[in-house]
Amino acid sequence: MIKPIAHYPELADPQLRPRYTGIPTFFRQPFAQDLSAVDIGVIGVPFDGGVTNRTGARHGPRGLRDQSSLIRKVNQATGVAPFELVRVADLGDAWIERPYELEGALAEITGFYDVVHAAGVVPLSAGGDHSVSLPILRAIARGRPLGMVHIDAHCDTGDDYLGSRFHHGAPFRRAVEEGLLDPARVIQIGIRGSLNSADMWQFSRDSGMRVVPMEELDDRGWAWAAEEARRVVGTGPAYLSFDIDSLDPAFAPGTGTPEPGGISVREAQRLLRALAGPDFVGADVVEVSPPFDHAGLTTMAGVSVMFEILCLLAQARAARGRSAG
Ligand code: MN
Ligand code: MN
Repeated sequence: MIKPIAHYPELADPQLRPRYTGIPTFFRQPFAQDLSAVDIGVIGVPFDGGVTNRTGARHGPRGLRDQSSLIRKVNQATGVAPFELVRVADLGDAWIERPYELEGALAEITGFYDVVHAAGVVPLSAGGDHSVSLPILRAIARGRPLGMVHIDAHCDTGDDYLGSRFHHGAPFRRAVEEGLLDPARVIQIGIRGSLNSADMWQFSRDSGMRVVPMEELDDRGWAWAAEEARRVVGTGPAYLSFDIDSLDPAFAPGTGTPEPGGISVREAQRLLRALAGPDFVGADVVEVSPPFDHAGLTTMAGVSVMFEILCLLAQARAARGRSAG
């Protein structure tokens, strides 16, 4: 028999144990394979077969799980206590049996999320590179195009690159083409960096997405951006996709395509806290690449962002009641 708790009954709650102990699950929540008692499932997607530059995002879920023991129970700024609002569990990884076949791997990811979605569980995913957002959307947005708040240095609405249409610079173009996103209800925030051509992200503008370049965000601020995001996505179901390279490399060096001149962790936190309201039915934090990280900066920023997003998902889920996401 394993040693029972003798002196401190509160230690029955893994979130109250010393944070360096235990097997690392996301936010020290239970690992669950039975979805019947789960409202929000936190899922790792350890796949980076779609990157165009530096690899390593396949190690993101492990790094984020370990670092997520930093997170406690209550959002000090907003008072939101996500683990009291809803039942959160770590559903493990959407791991892939045949990772060397890009389109097949994406289909395997969709298969995983089909099960999650059918069970009415809201997914909060940790990538993985940004190509994984497309197979997630294929599972949760089928038959009902979603709005989206997309925070990133890049629009990710490119087209064919080196013979593939499914790399991490193109998921949201494919998602619009496949009827998974309503571009009129999509906002892309933090866009910057040098381009291969001036019209590299033309698809975003042509399709009707609201593109907020870094300069506009810098001039008008996070509070304005949150208000604009709520206006654009409206009241219908929406997704939230956070590419860690939206942060300045000073805060998140561990990523595949860093772009200097980005937002701070503090700005990201305040922007996300001000985003409460939309009917978020899923979210991801992608492009965390631990092999390029220093001192855990990127995983620390990543889990901080994941916690803010978890609060948004929990609030939306609680507002909907127990109905399917
Ligand atoms: Mn991206
Ligand atoms: Mn990016």
